[in-house]
Amino acid sequence: MAAEKEERDGVPLTNLDQELFPEAGVSKRELIDYLDAVRDRIIPVLRDRPLSVIRLLRGQDQFMQKNLPKYTPEWVPRTKVWAEASHREVLYALCNDRRTLLWFGNQRAIEYHPTLMTATDRDHPTHLIMDLDPPEGSGFGVVVAAALLVRRALNDVGLDGAVKTSGSKGVHIFVPLDGTAETVDVAAATRAVAVRAERLDPELATTAFIRDDRHGKVFLDATRSGGASVVAAYSPRVRPGLPVSFPVGWDRLPEITPADFTVRSAPAILADSDPWAEDMPSPQPLDPGLVAEGHTI
Ligand code: ATP
Ligand code: MN
Ligand code: MN
Repeated sequence: MAAEKEERDGVPLTNLDQELFPEAGVSKRELIDYLDAVRDRIIPVLRDRPLSVIRLLRGQDQFMQKNLPKYTPEWVPRTKVWAEASHREVLYALCNDRRTLLWFGNQRAIEYHPTLMTATDRDHPTHLIMDLDPPEGSGFGVVVAAALLVRRALNDVGLDGAVKTSGSKGVHIFVPLDGTAETVDVAAATRAVAVRAERLDPELATTAFIRDDRHGKVFLDATRSGGASVVAAYSPRVRPGLPVSFPVGWDRLPEITPADFTVRSAPAILADSDPWAEDMPSPQPLDPGLVAEGHTI
């Protein structure tokens, strides 16, 4: 049997045989081995972005950690961000290298949530994001249909993006931007795209914030675009079997279910595919007309 402790890239890894949580069916070793196996994919996604992680300590509830704890090794890259809402400075990690990723894994950090801005340019999001949330009790098919609808609305205004599963119930569409648009304008353009998609098929998709007003339709959540974080591609989720958020080619989307991608299955799939390498368009400018349209919503 493999040792309960080991050192990798100078990082001590401990209690490796512990299960992560009762329904996980996955050990801490499997989480760390997964992160290490996909490091060349996930580190570029996390690089230079203030990072929040969801940790799950043994026997405790999960919690989202933004501020780095005092005992963090000095070699973990970091950046200070002024949080206007709470009037304090937050010290965020930047997961830029293998040992930082391994250290987080050993800290039982399961989910990785980077911001949409990099630490060096906090005013210009690198992507416009559409978060698609299915109604209670629906299958994945309606999410696929709604994602294709959002893609049509994007194409109508000269934009395109790539899609990933959230690792939970829905999907996230990522539209790479050229970095000239400011946060409030990206948020406005996202609202405009959501409303346009809703108009294309009001029976399928809704922009209603109030849950009771959604009437069993897929919610197009435009509010994640701009300042907020979105779970990173390749990040595991705190759910049984540790599913991972996973990039999917547009043409493959109707054939998959989110449960296809877990810490166990994903490395082999990645060995011979890179869906975003093919699907992700070049960074795009935002049309001022679309931004103006969004500011009226
Ligand atoms: P699902 O497919 O179940 O919707 P999701 O990851 O898209 O999974 P959402 O609730 O739609 O979950 O949230 C979208 C993103 O917003 C999350 O991936 C996360 O990064 C961020 N987020 C959501 N809730 C919080 C929170 N309470 N604190 C910080 N970030 C959050
Ligand atoms: Mn969602
Ligand atoms: Mn949401």
